Amino acid sequence: MKKTIAIIGGGPSASTLATLLARKGHKVGIFRTPHRPALIVGESLLPAIIPILKELGVEEKVSEFSVFKPGATICLDPHETLSFGFDLARTRMVYAYNVPRDKFDEAILEAAVDAGARLFSHRAEVMLDNKGKPALTPETLAAAEGFFNDGVDLLVDASGRTRLLPNLLNLPSEEGGRKDLALFSHQENVEMTDPGNIHVDRYSKGWGWRIPLPGRVSVGIVVSPKHLKQLGDTKEEQYDNFLRQEPKLRDYVKNAQRTTTVMSYTNYQWKSLKLYGEGWALVGDSAGFIDPIFSTGLYLAMYSAVQLAKAIDKGTPAAFEAYQRHHREELKSWQSIIDMWYEGTLFSLFRVGQKYKTSLLSRFLNPFVTKHVTRIFTGEIRSGSFSHKVLQFMTRYGLYKQDTSALVIN
Ligand SMILES: Cc1cc2nc3c(=O)[nH]c(=O)nc-3n(C[C@H](O)[C@H](O)[C@H](O)COP(=O)(O)OP(=O)(O)OC[C@H]3O[C@@H](n4cnc5c(N)ncnc54)[C@H](O)[C@@H]3O)c2cc1C
Repeated sequence: MKKTIAIIGGGPSASTLATLLARKGHKVGIFRTPHRPALIVGESLLPAIIPILKELGVEEKVSEFSVFKPGATICLDPHETLSFGFDLARTRMVYAYNVPRDKFDEAILEAAVDAGARLFSHRAEVMLDNKGKPALTPETLAAAEGFFNDGVDLLVDASGRTRLLPNLLNLPSEEGGRKDLALFSHQENVEMTDPGNIHVDRYSKGWGWRIPLPGRVSVGIVVSPKHLKQLGDTKEEQYDNFLRQEPKLRDYVKNAQRTTTVMSYTNYQWKSLKLYGEGWALVGDSAGFIDPIFSTGLYLAMYSAVQLAKAIDKGTPAAFEAYQRHHREELKSWQSIIDMWYEGTLFSLFRVGQKYKTSLLSRFLNPFVTKHVTRIFTGEIRSGSFSHKVLQFMTRYGLYKQDTSALVIN
C-alpha cells in the first residue's frame, strides 16, 4: 500500500530516504531548514557509500565538485606516518570522495526532488497529539500548503543531531565515553603528504583531520574542552592557538591562511535505543552518531536510509524491527572499533606487525590481516563478519603482553 511520509531534515539521510520512497510511488514531503551554513562537517566519504551514490544516480555529479580519495594517511606521531590505499582490501570498493558538504547535500536533495518528493523550505516543529503520538504542528502542516491534508502515515526524523523526536519522546539512549569538542575551518596552502587521502593526525592532546577539498583543505581538531579552554576565550582563539602550539600541526599550516570562520561541534557519541514506534521512525544521525574518527557518519546515515526505505516499503512490524536491530548492531560494532582508536590498541597492532615483519608468521599474517582490516575501513563489511573476527582475534592475541599506552588518545 502506498503511504504518505513526512521527512524532517534536508541532509543526506533525508534525501536518500525520500528518493528511494518516491521512486516506489510513495507520497513524500521533506521539510528542511531554509538556511544551512555553507561550512558543514562530514566531508570525507567511505568507499562503501559509492554504491549508494550510484543507486541515487548522483555519483558523476558528486565527482565533478569533489576530490578523488584513494585512501588514508595516518600520522601516529611526528616521526611515524603510514598511508594505505583502499585497494588493499582487494575488492571493488577502492575509492571514495572528499566532498564540499553544501554541494553534496544539494546534489542528493535534487535527486529526491527529481524522483518526485516535494520540498518545503520550512523549519518543522513537532508536538504530541491527543493520543500521545508525535505529529507535525498545525503551523508546520500549513507550511506544506495542503500536501498532508489527507494525513501523515509516517513521520521520519532525519534532523541530524538536532534529534527532534528523541527529545520530544524522551527516548532511551546510550552515550559513549568521549566528550570531546571538534573545531574546524577551511584553509589554503596546508601541507599534505598524499594527495587525495584524508589525513588523520594524532596529537599530544586529541587528534585532528586534514581533508583535501578543491582549492582548500578542511582542518579539524578533536580535543578535550578542558584543554581548549586554556588556549583562549573564543573558539577562534582556541583553534588558532592549538594549531600554533601543536608541534607537527604547526608545520603543516606554517604557510596556510584560514579562509573561513571556525565551526564547533559537541554532543556526539550518542545513539537512540529505539529507532521506530507507532507512526514514526528515526534515520541518520538522529538515530545515532558515534564519532568522526573513521568518517563513518555519512555512510551510516545514508545506509540507514536505504534500510529504512525497505522497511517502510514492506510496512510490516518485522521489517521495522529488523531495521532497528541491524542499524543498532552497526553502530555498536563501529563504536567498539572507535574505542580501539582512543585506547591505542588499533595502531599498536600495526606497530607489532611492523616490528616482527620479517618473521615467517608475520610474512604470512600481515597481508591477510591488512586485507581484512582495510575491508572494515572501507565500510563494506557488516558487523559480525569474518573481517571483524580477524581484527578482534588480532587485538586479543597479537597484542598479548604488549604495551599499548603509547598510542592512547589523550
Ligand atoms: C566533528 C564531526 C566531523 C565529521 N566528519 C565526518 C566525515 O569526515 N565523514 C563523514 O562521513 N561523516 C562525518 N561526520 C558525520 C556527518 O556529518 C553526519 O553523520 C551526517 O551529516 C549525517 O547526515 P544526516 O542527514 O543524518 O544529518 P545532517 O547532515 O545533520 O542533516 C540534518 C538536516 O536536518 C535539518 N534540520 C534540523 N532540524 C530541522 C527542523 N526542525 N526542520 C527541518 N530541518 C531540520 C538540518 O538543517 C540539516 O540540514 C562528522 C561529524 C562531526 C560531528
